[in-house]
Amino acid sequence: MRLALVLLALLALLAPLVSAFASRARRRDFRALSESQMGALATLDPPEWDAVDSGHLAHLLVPRVSGTENNTQVQEYLSSVFAKLGWHEDKDRFTQETPLGDVQFTNLIFTFDADAPRKLVLSAHFDSKWFEQGGFIGATDSSAPCATLLDVAEALTPLLRARKARVDAGTPLLQDGHDEEDAAATTLQIIFFDGEEAFHEWTDTDSVYGSRHLADKWDAEYLPPSHEFVRRRLSPRPTVLDTVDVLVLLDLLGAPSPSISSYYRDTDWMFVQLSAVDDRLRAAGLVDKGAKEHWFSKYINQFSGIDDDHRPFLHKGVPILHLITSPFPAVWHRMSDNKDALDLGVLRRWNRIMRVWTAAYLGLSADDGGAAATAAPRNASPKTTDEL
Ligand SMILES: [Zn+2]
Repeated sequence: MRLALVLLALLALLAPLVSAFASRARRRDFRALSESQMGALATLDPPEWDAVDSGHLAHLLVPRVSGTENNTQVQEYLSSVFAKLGWHEDKDRFTQETPLGDVQFTNLIFTFDADAPRKLVLSAHFDSKWFEQGGFIGATDSSAPCATLLDVAEALTPLLRARKARVDAGTPLLQDGHDEEDAAATTLQIIFFDGEEAFHEWTDTDSVYGSRHLADKWDAEYLPPSHEFVRRRLSPRPTVLDTVDVLVLLDLLGAPSPSISSYYRDTDWMFVQLSAVDDRLRAAGLVDKGAKEHWFSKYINQFSGIDDDHRPFLHKGVPILHLITSPFPAVWHRMSDNKDALDLGVLRRWNRIMRVWTAAYLGLSADDGGAAATAAPRNASPKTTDEL
């Protein structure tokens, strides 16, 4: 009895350590897409997207300060895109004191399969910075990253649907020698954070209002231990935060010649895959802007000190992949951060990288239907038509 008590006490002491060491960002089977699958996914650009301010960006390139009517209209646009795709929507709405008084903020969380035990989270902030004179757009900060997230959702929804149908039908999980257990358990979730920007000077309290609220909320929301948590020996008392494999945060993107670094050792393998996807796209002639440019650094930079929406999640142990250009774009927090700061070829390249990388992370493939099998590439180059 005493021994049992001691053992129990020991277990109770060790449990947090076990969960801390069982990194959620452990390597998984990354199913690289075939050349033709990659080409089909990369060339899905909608025909009407022939200028940076057409397509989704026509709705996002407006001042959208938290708590304003414009901010609400952008929320409605984001919701309308995901409603069409049939994703689950959660709104995290709250009022918080700011240097300008009480402001209502709304984070939008869209999930392909709300019942999935694991999530790959892609995120960006959709608010724009408040300036007294008004009129600040923030095209790189962060209209363009938001547009990329919409693009990834649209491109991958058919593949996600087809894979779910296959998994639900009980098709064996081992396909083509790939262990699909990780992939089958993981869904795609896309978060649009409100209130990233400081109203006055950036401080710990005047910044990242939305992500601080959501990280605190999910940290306090306990879930029943699922088979998936047992399988991966994660926390015996999982919270919603434990369902996040990795939070990928995009910010300050869309201008030419970005310089992207890896900041965290536990997610560096994902960063390497991202860089490899870009290399493959460039080698296949699927990059039409800066094809000779390396955007992704070969070295880990653990001393960046860049504060952003990832901070509250990072402090609670969530693995982070922070895709931000450093140094910041020359237009950063200037009125010139408008559509003229963006480049269509750069935006296309980001969309393609993120589509292909996300598909590989989630183990999606043309075998599951979707882009390559059901949708004719709308802007295909001749290279992509083989062996479909
Ligand atoms: Zn900003």
